[in-house]
Amino acid sequence: MRVLVFNAGSSSLKFGLFEGDRQIFKGSFDRFREGGCDLSFEGAEGPLEQGRAPHADLAAAIAAVPGVLAERGLDAIDAVGHRLAHGGTEFTGPARIDDAVIARIEALTPLAPLHNPAMLEGLRLASRIWPDLPQVAVFDTSFHLTNPARATTYAVPPAWRDAGLRRFGFHGTSHKYVAQRAAEALGQPLSDLRIISVHLGNGASACAVQYGASIDSSMGMTPLEGLVMGTRSGDIDPGAFGFLQRHLGLGVAAIEAALYSDSGLKALTGSPDMRDVEDRAAQGDAEAQLAINLYAYRVRKYLGSYAAAMGGVDAVVFTGGIGQNSASMRRRICDGLSFMGLMLDDDRNRAPDLSDRAAPQIQAQGSRVAIVVTETAEQLMIAREVRAMLQRPALAPRPVPVAVSGRHVHLSEASVQALFGPNYRLTEGAPLRQPGNWVAEERVTLEGPKGRLERVAILGPLRPRTQIEVSRTDSFALGIDAPVRNSGQLEGTPKVRLIGPAGTIETDGLIVAARHIHTNPAEAEAMGLSDGEMVEIEVQGADGRGLVFSHTLVRVVPGTVTEMHIDTDEANAAGISGHVDGAVVPHVQAVPRA
Ligand code: AMP
Repeated sequence: MRVLVFNAGSSSLKFGLFEGDRQIFKGSFDRFREGGCDLSFEGAEGPLEQGRAPHADLAAAIAAVPGVLAERGLDAIDAVGHRLAHGGTEFTGPARIDDAVIARIEALTPLAPLHNPAMLEGLRLASRIWPDLPQVAVFDTSFHLTNPARATTYAVPPAWRDAGLRRFGFHGTSHKYVAQRAAEALGQPLSDLRIISVHLGNGASACAVQYGASIDSSMGMTPLEGLVMGTRSGDIDPGAFGFLQRHLGLGVAAIEAALYSDSGLKALTGSPDMRDVEDRAAQGDAEAQLAINLYAYRVRKYLGSYAAAMGGVDAVVFTGGIGQNSASMRRRICDGLSFMGLMLDDDRNRAPDLSDRAAPQIQAQGSRVAIVVTETAEQLMIAREVRAMLQRPALAPRPVPVAVSGRHVHLSEASVQALFGPNYRLTEGAPLRQPGNWVAEERVTLEGPKGRLERVAILGPLRPRTQIEVSRTDSFALGIDAPVRNSGQLEGTPKVRLIGPAGTIETDGLIVAARHIHTNPAEAEAMGLSDGEMVEIEVQGADGRGLVFSHTLVRVVPGTVTEMHIDTDEANAAGISGHVDGAVVPHVQAVPRA
């Protein structure tokens, strides 16, 4: 399948043509101005043409693309993908364009007034040029819609939040791509890794990718928050607005424009370009030296905070013009992080070979945290998303029985002995639907700083590690903040006290289990599902309140019975009582395991 990808801006148009993962053409029309723009074309084998073109705006540039491709015999295209900056809370994945989708994207313009309009215009123009081809929008924000409320909520008046003020995060396509690429390079499933992705380009952001899902990112409501950027400020005290208005008489529009366009490296040094800043710093320019220190310090703080947010980190991946190219910036950022097991190897860091989308590791021997450098490939990722969406087989509408899990524990042999006495064997009680699983006759008590949960069920058989699964409400009853995790992902989980008739233990392993579907290979194939993918499941509750559960992990294991597991909070929210079947929502595209 050949996919043409557009990244349209008010001053430039970038486009790429992909055959599978191979980029067969890359073009840009840059710096639109009266009389024309700059042009650059590259084929699969390297540069083709650079110079000037007569196109003075986006419409003229897009109109020229069919001719550019036809000249090179590349005009056979199967689909068009478009980068969209903002998809609000509603676009959790790519969207096939029709009038209704365009209207929904238009309605989001107030959230991204600088970016979405040109992208939307590009989308409209391309739909007119290729009316018979599927057009698909891929949103920078979608990847971050897995962020929990604690990461997305600003502590501001309810009326503001009702108006839509919340954190979104951007660069999602880049973070998703480099996290997948890093996992591939490390030879481990993305769903087993806690990765901090650091995209340092003209725009810059960091993202905590926990077991495949973004859980926080440094950009917020707008792409202004977070790291220091080329011309954007990054984090700044919101109190500055009042101060600037009272003391300098600046209005909101002027402050906002300065924070977007006249801040960051440009404000600190006069140049938004890190190469200039590094050169000047090396010549003794104190302002450039401060800018570099401040830039690295801000990134380092985010690395520390995201390691804390995920209870540890397995890999850091650097990308973007600065992340890819500046060995000294990577070094500056990583220095001082050995306390959390992150150590750079100077030789590997100096000149990593990034050709052919390589993702070399540059950590020192003995570093617990892997450090990966790779070029980002947002257009490639968009092409992949378009392909995945269009090639996905229609899902057979099969029912998925929903099972509601109350709080329970899985115990290790050692925990059983400590709680019930030496050589104790649990008594196998009622069997569960999954073959070989049962509820024990015994019970335990959970205790936290706020309270106790009595008579908690124990599920067998025994496991290598003790795992305690509670609902979010239970975690408040205990007074312990339990993270949402997949079963078995217990690194960095909090401790809780378990009380049995013969003893008490303090053990980690307290989680809110991430919702998931168990199924076997035959039924997975019949439903068009694959192991590790995330799907949406629609459930109609008995009280008429249905819910669509997003980000539901599919686990395909031979011998298991198809069943969706949710906890009691989720069941209550959906009004579920008694037996109910869910249904896979067909439009959601796969999140492949790396
Ligand atoms: P991007 O937006 O990803 O194209 O990144 C642009 C930024 O990368 C600019 O600040 C460039 O100065 C910076 N950059 C590109 N190459 C280098 C390099 N070799 N050393 C330092 N910064 C670089």
